[in-house]
Amino acid sequence: MKAVRLTGWGREPTLADVGCPLPRGTEVLVRVEAAGLCHSDVHVIDAARGALPYRLPFTLGHEVAGRVTALGPDVEGTVAGERVVVHGPWGCGNCARCAAGRDNYCDRRGDLDWHGLGLGRDGGMAEYVLVPSARHLVPIGGLPAAQAAPLSDAGLTSYHALAGVRHALGEGTTALVIGVGGLGHLAVQILRATTPSRVLAVDIREEALELALRYGAHDGMPMRADTARMLRVGTGGVGVDAVLDFVGSEATLALAVEVLRPGGELAVVGSGGGRLTVRKPGFLPAGFRLSLPFWGTRPELAEVIALARSGALHVETEQFPLSAAPEAFGRLRQGRVRGRAVLLPG
Ligand SMILES: [Zn+2]
Ligand SMILES: [Zn+2]
Repeated sequence: MKAVRLTGWGREPTLADVGCPLPRGTEVLVRVEAAGLCHSDVHVIDAARGALPYRLPFTLGHEVAGRVTALGPDVEGTVAGERVVVHGPWGCGNCARCAAGRDNYCDRRGDLDWHGLGLGRDGGMAEYVLVPSARHLVPIGGLPAAQAAPLSDAGLTSYHALAGVRHALGEGTTALVIGVGGLGHLAVQILRATTPSRVLAVDIREEALELALRYGAHDGMPMRADTARMLRVGTGGVGVDAVLDFVGSEATLALAVEVLRPGGELAVVGSGGGRLTVRKPGFLPAGFRLSLPFWGTRPELAEVIALARSGALHVETEQFPLSAAPEAFGRLRQGRVRGRAVLLPG
């Protein structure tokens, strides 16, 4: 079968012919219908040798939806023919966190040489993918695969980030989304569907702001020198209750703490490498709380899929055949993908 393989650090992935895996034990074979491309794929490709614990080569693709086609003899919890999305952050499988579907915060993450599906283990940019256990699967029913796949990371990560700050977003509050790409445009929709907050969006790209407005943001503004002042004015001088930062650069973190209301919540989702100095007394808002969410839990993925099936979420996608993976990665690197790029191996 064809698969998009990472064969060397800093080298573009290549489309290779590999053997189709056979499920053993608790393993489940899924025929891939769609696999999303993520900025973290680019971070993985560009990583310096030794920066990540992964062993090469492996198949990329951690946002995967498809159909169960074969089962190992010990599989419980799914049947052949079921359409599913894969919960990608595979942990050790044995600790209390993993047992609760919270593999994203596995207690033994530091001991593993993978972070999950397509991240050190063979992922879904291929015709088939082997999943270690049915506990990583969430049924999607009739949801289109190109919609379901991005929900397993872009949707789930946004949902999980919001779960940590939702308590601050009651009636009469304001939420700010910084960076309206694959994750941000879903965060806007999840905010609108699950909170009564006013939703503001900031991005450097005009087309990203249009995307935010189209998907329900109440207002969008470009990232400029006076953005913090404009946001203050836009909130009657009080500031925003929660910021979801999908960029995480020095500039966006500075903006976030400048516009947060006292007691406000900042969730840093983007891995932009920015730094924030914590000092007391200092310039940070009183009562300010910070979270560094990573991906999301399996129960949350089921909630995201349910939201999408209810019609509350729509993923903006650009779709490519598997053979066009190099072109899709090129567009992602150039920041030219609108919403999420998705590969369709079928
Ligand atoms: Zn990702
Ligand atoms: Zn674990």
